[in-house]
Amino acid sequence: ERVISTEVSEFDERFEQSLRPQYLSQYIGQDKVKNNLDIFVKAAKMRKESLDHVLLYGPPGLGKTTLAAVIANEMEVNIRMTSGPAIERPGDLAAIVSSLEPGDVLFIDEIHRLNRSIEEVLYPAMEDFCLDIVVGKGPSARSVRLDLPPFTLIGATTRAGALSAPLRDRFGVLLRLDYYDNQALTEIVSRSAALFDAEIDHPSAGEIASRSRGTPRIANRLLKRVRDFAQVRGNGTISIDTAQEALELLQVDALGLDHIDHKLLIGMIERFRGGPVGLDTIAASIGEESTTIEDVYEPYLLQIGFLQRTPRGRVVTKLAYDHFNYPYFEE
Ligand code: ATP
Repeated sequence: ERVISTEVSEFDERFEQSLRPQYLSQYIGQDKVKNNLDIFVKAAKMRKESLDHVLLYGPPGLGKTTLAAVIANEMEVNIRMTSGPAIERPGDLAAIVSSLEPGDVLFIDEIHRLNRSIEEVLYPAMEDFCLDIVVGKGPSARSVRLDLPPFTLIGATTRAGALSAPLRDRFGVLLRLDYYDNQALTEIVSRSAALFDAEIDHPSAGEIASRSRGTPRIANRLLKRVRDFAQVRGNGTISIDTAQEALELLQVDALGLDHIDHKLLIGMIERFRGGPVGLDTIAASIGEESTTIEDVYEPYLLQIGFLQRTPRGRVVTKLAYDHFNYPYFEE
C-alpha cells in the first residue's frame, strides 16, 4: 500500500468527502481553469441555460470529481455521479439521463472507459438532448426517440488522448488540471488541517506540500498520517520536526518519491544504463501494467524531469542520477 498512491480506498472516500471544497472560491489553485469556469457559469446562468458539456482531464487525485461537484453547486443544480465502467448497457445510461432535472449535471468519471455502443447513445443525448432507443426485438424492433431535459455532461479522464474524436468533439469546454505548485498545496494542507482541528504551522504545511507530488489527494493523506504521529509522539501540534520525522518514517523522500519510484528509476539506471527502456519492460520490472505506469507512476516523474519520453523508450535524466547519487555519463 503506497502512502503516495493516487487510488482511493473506501476509508479515503469518507475522509475526502469531508474536505471537499463546495464552491469555486474555496477551490485552491488551478487559477486558469477557475477563471474560465467562473465566466462560463455566470454566462450560462444569465442566459438561464444549462452549462456546455465540460471535459476535465489530468492526472489522478488533482480534484476532477471535486471540481465537478463545485460546478454543480455554482450552477445551483443537482449532480449525478457515475463512471465509464459502471455503465454497462445502453439501458443503464438511458435510465440515468432520463431521470435528470433540467440543467442537472451528469458526471462520468473515467469517461475514456465507456464502451462504444454507449458512446453512440450519448452523442444525440449530448447534442440534441434526446435518446434513440430500440424497443422490441427481431423484425418488430423499432427505434423510438425520447426527449431529455437539457443537462450538462461533465466527463473526467486521466487520458484525454484515449477518448474517441467524436466524443471529444462534443464537449464545448475542455479543461486541463495541472499538478499544484507548493504554494497552493501548502494552502490546501492548512485548510484541511483547520477542517479537522489539527494545529499546524506554515513550515510544516509546506513540508507536507513539498512531498505530495503536486497532488491534493496525497497531501491530505500525508497530513493525516503526520497528525496521527504528532498525536502519539508529541502533544498533538504538528511542528516541522514531527512532520519531518513522520515523513521519514513513511519513507517519502524530499521530492515525494517512495520505494516504488526508487525501484523503478534505480532499476533503469542499474540494469539498462538509464535507458531508453520500453514501457513494457519497466512495467514488468515492478510488476505493474503498462497503462498503470503511463497513467499513475510516470506523469509525476516526467513532470519533475526525472524521466524523458523518447521514440525508443523512457530515459532517466541527469537530475534523477544526481538525486540518487549515481555518476552520470553523457552518451
Ligand atoms: P480521480 O481522478 O482519481 O477521481 P480527482 O481528480 O477526481 O481524482 P478528487 O477526488 O476530486 O480528485 O480530489 C481529491 C481530494 O483532494 C479531495 O478530497 C479534495 O478534498 C482535495 N482537493 C482536490 N482539489 C482541491 C482544491 N483545489 N482545493 C482543496 N482541496 C482539493
